Amino acid sequence: MTGPVLSYLEDGMIELGPVGEAEGNWRSGTDEDGILWLVLDKTGTGTNTISQGVIRELETHVAAAESDLPKALVIRSAKPKGFAAGADITSFDAMSDEGAADLLRQGHDVLDRIEALNCPTICVVHGAALGAGFELALACDYRIAVDGASFGFPEVQLGLHPGLGGTFRLPALIDPTEAMTLMLTGKTAHTKKAKSLGIADAVVRERHVAAAVRAAANGEIERQSQGLKAQALSFDQARGLVARKMRSETEKKAPKEHYPAPHALIDLWEEHGDDRKEMQRAEIESFAALLKTDTSENLRRVFFLQQKLKEAGRGEDGISHVHVIGAGAMGGEIAAMAAIKGKTVTLGDVETEPLGKAVKQAGNICEKKHLSRIETRDALDRLMPDPKGYGIARADLVIEAAPETVEIKRKIYDGLKDRMKKGAILATNTSSLSVDELAAHAPVKTRFAGLHFFNPVSQIDLVEVVGGTKTDKNTADRLAAFCGAIGKLPAKVADYPGFVVNRALTPYLMEAMVLMDEGVPKEVIDSAALRFGMPMGPVTLADQVGLDICLHVAESLRETLDKPMAEISSDLRHKVDAGKLGKKSGQGFYDWSDGTPHPQTDRDLPEDITDRLILPMLDACVEVLRKDVAQDEDQVDAAMIFATGWAPFRGGPMHYAHARGVDEIPRRLKELQGKYGDRFAPDDGWGALG
Ligand code: NAD
Repeated sequence: MTGPVLSYLEDGMIELGPVGEAEGNWRSGTDEDGILWLVLDKTGTGTNTISQGVIRELETHVAAAESDLPKALVIRSAKPKGFAAGADITSFDAMSDEGAADLLRQGHDVLDRIEALNCPTICVVHGAALGAGFELALACDYRIAVDGASFGFPEVQLGLHPGLGGTFRLPALIDPTEAMTLMLTGKTAHTKKAKSLGIADAVVRERHVAAAVRAAANGEIERQSQGLKAQALSFDQARGLVARKMRSETEKKAPKEHYPAPHALIDLWEEHGDDRKEMQRAEIESFAALLKTDTSENLRRVFFLQQKLKEAGRGEDGISHVHVIGAGAMGGEIAAMAAIKGKTVTLGDVETEPLGKAVKQAGNICEKKHLSRIETRDALDRLMPDPKGYGIARADLVIEAAPETVEIKRKIYDGLKDRMKKGAILATNTSSLSVDELAAHAPVKTRFAGLHFFNPVSQIDLVEVVGGTKTDKNTADRLAAFCGAIGKLPAKVADYPGFVVNRALTPYLMEAMVLMDEGVPKEVIDSAALRFGMPMGPVTLADQVGLDICLHVAESLRETLDKPMAEISSDLRHKVDAGKLGKKSGQGFYDWSDGTPHPQTDRDLPEDITDRLILPMLDACVEVLRKDVAQDEDQVDAAMIFATGWAPFRGGPMHYAHARGVDEIPRRLKELQGKYGDRFAPDDGWGALG
């Protein structure tokens, strides 16, 4: 057995059967105290998922334990990465409605039998126990969390709710409102929170697992009680009140029309929260029905799109030292992310203040990402302020994140000549300048490319790896692998004004400003986008991105694209001139001095507004496909979703275009062209979409 975990098992205190085709996904063995260990070690993968095969084999082990009762039963994972990532999503498509309910019932039966075993049952969790993995843990009497463990139900992100008993076991274990919040938001409870909520009965270091298991087996670990709130919520009326509040809160973030799953979960809890048997029956039915909704199908598509991008980020990057030039909003966070993920990072700037700020921000990011104190210390040790640029000579990759002018960037590149290590790559984080134009000044054109991160880097996973005409394949591959190594999702695209994401997003932002110039209130414009399912309206987004940056990108696209774009709004220019740059200056189109504005209005929307905002984005996506800027439709969808949060339940802009009709959209664009101008003229590429 390999990996940093399972020292108790590695010490050879028990003999576990090997994993493999014939033996299946579980390894088992009984230790000297008569405790039966079932260790999940799914074949052919580094991450455990709870597949039908895993459940079927578990049933055999449980049957054996029923007929020859051990002193205690322990369930844990052999994978160094963690306990289990949830159900096997690849099998969802194949599960028909009836089939799904039947399969779920089999799973429920096995978990019910674990729960009913007449001996202590103990789940040891290291890393993440998610979805069905968490449900398996909940079926046990005790959960022992190894430091760093986390528990969560991400099903809502797939348009589902828990389906293997989570909907009744978690509310029965902890404060039911906390349980519902975890299930409704998909948020993860990390070790400390899991302990305080009562999900974990004990938190131990790996080397103390054996002792903790023995203590649990002997009934020496005390379990928390649920408290008074749970008793109150066993009454229909109390549950009804709380459910109403949950519904209105949920509606704000996940409207029922677009995201039915959390609402179905609230209904289940309200109706059957006091009757476990009924809840179990209803959970199975509801889960099977949700599986067939467009929302769940599209969200599962998004999951697979993400897997595809992750795949594109695998491989050797040959990069251990990164030097970042420019410690501003972007460079600071790029440096932090690289250091957190194990790279040695030097960070340069012409000013000292941004360097200090960047290190402080790196500490904040470590905290937000739940890094331990030791991990944080190590990450910060790897991040070295380097105002003199000593790191340039040692870096395998230099990332330039200096201000957005060719002149500044050219001077920086001139200063790198003869200083960079042989074979090292230079990448620019430019968002609006041409990579080919910048390449003309780079020390080695073949090892120069764009590495377009999005703001905030620590939160937005997509990175466009922009290959110029001279960039060699090895450089693009290494950069994609670098993105993967620092936990990002690379999309390899070609050099083009705005690349893919900003090319598609800019018309959306500009049309919002045209609408404002026409007198449509900004709240109405933002509401139209929110009702469509965008995570943020275009006016709020423009403020968030920074109006100076929006203006810059819009100007550069207007100059470089051979297609008509909307006139740049004079209001935008005035605001930028007056220093009203949006969120960062406290004032833009909205007032940000009191935090984030929440524009929502029930007012009727003006005619055509939603199509005027959304369809030009789809048209730009078709354009970047026709021009081979993007690789394929899936890549465009993934890039838009993971960079901008584009209405995920619609499966991405191209998926939406197909659902609505690739004949219908250009027809509608022509109609808008007739009414509002040539910026709506449909791209030539529509006809080529099958
Ligand atoms: P910023 O102004 O926050 O930071 C730039 C930093 O570069 C400053 O700290 C400045 O002191 C430093 N600097 C200036 N001249 C320098 C030099 N000669 N050598 C070293 N450092 C120098 O800018 P930012 O928002 O981080 O943008 C940096 C790059 O990232 C730009 O190319 C921008 O287009 C791109 N970008 C920005 C965003 C965004 O939303 N801010 C998003 C994507 C890409």
